[in-house]
Amino acid sequence: MLEVEHLRAWYGHTQALFDVSFSLPTGGCVALVGTNGAGKTTTLRAVLGLVRSQGSVRIDGQEVSGKQTHRRIQDHGVAVVHEGRGLLKDLTVRENLVVGNKAAARSGVSAAVDLFPALKDRLSERVSNLSGGQQQMVALGRAVLRQPQYVLLDEPSLGLAPSVVDEIYRYLAVLRETGLTMLLVEQSVPRATSIADRLCLLRTGATALDVDASDPAAVEHLMATAFSAEGAAPATAPTAASATTATTTAQRSGAQPLPTAPGTDGSS
Ligand code: ATP
Repeated sequence: MLEVEHLRAWYGHTQALFDVSFSLPTGGCVALVGTNGAGKTTTLRAVLGLVRSQGSVRIDGQEVSGKQTHRRIQDHGVAVVHEGRGLLKDLTVRENLVVGNKAAARSGVSAAVDLFPALKDRLSERVSNLSGGQQQMVALGRAVLRQPQYVLLDEPSLGLAPSVVDEIYRYLAVLRETGLTMLLVEQSVPRATSIADRLCLLRTGATALDVDASDPAAVEHLMATAFSAEGAAPATAPTAASATTATTTAQRSGAQPLPTAPGTDGSS
């Protein structure tokens, strides 16, 4: 289980996160959604300890906010698929699958090929020759070969054509079936809804809503809130039923005041 509470983060003296909270149960999938600049990627970076932050990040019940990034990743079985995929374009598919992973270099890539059979005939090909969708498959396969408990995905559909995005989401569904715990950054609420159990809407660096992705009224309210100027959406206010699944940060946290100055006990 990954639990994030009152997370704040800074780039230099500029505060980017003000109060992000969500909970990701083992085997579940939470999608961080929101408009450009809302703080989705920064939340992922703060969970990993890649940006100076305050607040609580617990993985498997253990507070990790004092841990360095590599310890969070190694101790808790975290794999990351970064925005832009982070592949080495001059290396082959096989080389990319095992790069930096001695165990996979020894034992082979069959776990990735079993999951994504389309990779089988492309293993000796340079990654740069593959389509965007196929490259995303390599990035996901590389994550799988790390045998993670948690996979963190930053906008896996970024820059891809809609038909390719459909393909990617089919791969993500396959990944989910393996029992992985998934934290997904996704701008598209409908895409996120297709795979996640819960949607966490970020606005200006804070959790604005946290809703059950299987509740259409709650998701509709979230979409209206995401694109409204004030963060409220009276025309599509949640029904009594959806109100039970849509909680605001203020409700959850008891309306903690937001900090105004950069913190000093950051994790990185
Ligand atoms: P996008 O979908 O556009 O990536 P996002 O929701 O992921 O948006 P972040 O990238 O987390 O948003 O950005 C949150 C805030 O932090 C924004 O105001 C952004 O300008 C700022 N920010 C992001 N990266 C940096 C950086 N390296 N240095 C300074 N400010 C940054």
